[in-house]
Amino acid sequence: MQNRDKLYINGQWVTPSGKGKIDVINASTEEVMAAIPDGDENDAAAAVAAARNAFDRWSATAPADRAGFLKKIQEGLKARSDELARIIAGEVGMPLKLSAMIQVGSPITNFGIYAKLATAFQWQEKTGNSVVVREPVGVVACITPWNYPLHQIAAKVAAALAAGCTVVLKPSEVAPLNAFVLAEVIDAAGLPAGVFNLVTGTGPVIGEALVRHPDVDMVSFTGSTRAGKRISEVAAATVKRVALELGGKSASVILEDADLAAAVKGTVNACFLNSGQTCSAHTRMLVPESRYEEAAKVAVEVAKGFTVGDPFGGSAKLGPLISEAQRERVRGYIRKGIEEGAELLAGGPDAPQGLERGYYVQPTIFGKVKPDSTIAQEEIFGPVLSIITYRDEDEAVSIANGTLYGLAGGVWASSDERAMQVARRLRTGQVDINGGAFNLGAPFGGYKQSGHGREMGAYGLEEFLEYKSLQFRPDAPALAAGAPY
Ligand code: NAD
Repeated sequence: MQNRDKLYINGQWVTPSGKGKIDVINASTEEVMAAIPDGDENDAAAAVAAARNAFDRWSATAPADRAGFLKKIQEGLKARSDELARIIAGEVGMPLKLSAMIQVGSPITNFGIYAKLATAFQWQEKTGNSVVVREPVGVVACITPWNYPLHQIAAKVAAALAAGCTVVLKPSEVAPLNAFVLAEVIDAAGLPAGVFNLVTGTGPVIGEALVRHPDVDMVSFTGSTRAGKRISEVAAATVKRVALELGGKSASVILEDADLAAAVKGTVNACFLNSGQTCSAHTRMLVPESRYEEAAKVAVEVAKGFTVGDPFGGSAKLGPLISEAQRERVRGYIRKGIEEGAELLAGGPDAPQGLERGYYVQPTIFGKVKPDSTIAQEEIFGPVLSIITYRDEDEAVSIANGTLYGLAGGVWASSDERAMQVARRLRTGQVDINGGAFNLGAPFGGYKQSGHGREMGAYGLEEFLEYKSLQFRPDAPALAAGAPY
């Protein structure tokens, strides 16, 4: 893997002002894969200036032309998909096949979705004597995490470009190599200089420099609730628009009459995907008291199928966690669960046998977890499922809603209608009904401290738009003609 020593600013690969570098570690070998620039405030300022300069022309580019660029970027990503899958399997540790399907497949799909939306979107509408037009919000700083790195980048960058915004991307310093490939693809697609810029470095230095910068109109952030709060504070000084996609502690509510085996299997899958490093992971499984023993037995059986191992090995369903720090954090939570008296049904804090090298953690299931205990309240971001029992539907809903978060969740019942009655009571941004699959066209985002704003599809495009109302005299010919703008 080649080291990266340049940033992509104003259509050029430039030598950074920040002289440091950050090592990128392979999660399964613990070896350095490559290094990236540790950019500083000057790099942030140069990228923002480029994005600002490019804004007037790009925002005035016809949506169909913007769509053409997005389509080219989609093609470019497709052509490099094998390479991208290998990079992400190395950086993040997700098994190669799954990385190809999810980590690379979904950004490719998303660039296509936004290419279509750019042309299909209704950019203006008439209401009374007004025409309301939608305009890009301006220069957007996109700050992204490491768990589905290119997916989270695409959800922001494709939507922002479709909207007519110009972008400065600051990807996670932990899994940044995929973003360099995207920048190369964008460069090859011929996007005008300054429309997309890539800077790298740490959150508190270059991330905050972007958030603070008066020429940045909006910050679109995905990451931890802790960093999201800080970003909101810093952005308040310049009254920027901020969209926050933050953490979660989602519940899968299994009702008395559900197909228990299917529900438990679906929940364990939704918890362990990407070794539990998924913001919308279903980390709490709520089961009726009367069905606890049965549910616990099935969960343990399902967990046995989650073989842990080398992401490049072919047979593993779970790879390592992203980093040593993350592994230690997750092991700490597993120890905490044991200390707090939860029943350890599978897994535990020790490294999986034979996998002492690499940031591996055993898929772990706790039973009889108290709803207010640490492991049932805090986001663990590892393969740890808490089974919690409830007595009746009201209690199930109250437990499901009883955390600071409200990102995702699921309801399992004998019918979709029954499941929807409970889904309606959940204070969360999305609910899977009897195992319904994730949909890239539907809005994704959180209630409560899971953030605000929505990504994906037309809802994600709206995030990057302003409204402008044009008022006409009632007899104005322009109004009658629909005021083409
Ligand atoms: P993180 O908050 O540590 O970092 C995310 C990004 O923010 C990185 O690029 C980082 O450099 C930057 N950053 C950190 N502090 C900053 C600051 N003060 N100012 C500006 N930028 C700053 O998160 P992470 O560890 O990379 O990702 C894991 C977290 O992301 C989890 O909490 C997870 O739930 C959340 N997440 C949420 C969603 C969602 O859509 N809701 C999706 C994926 C991940």
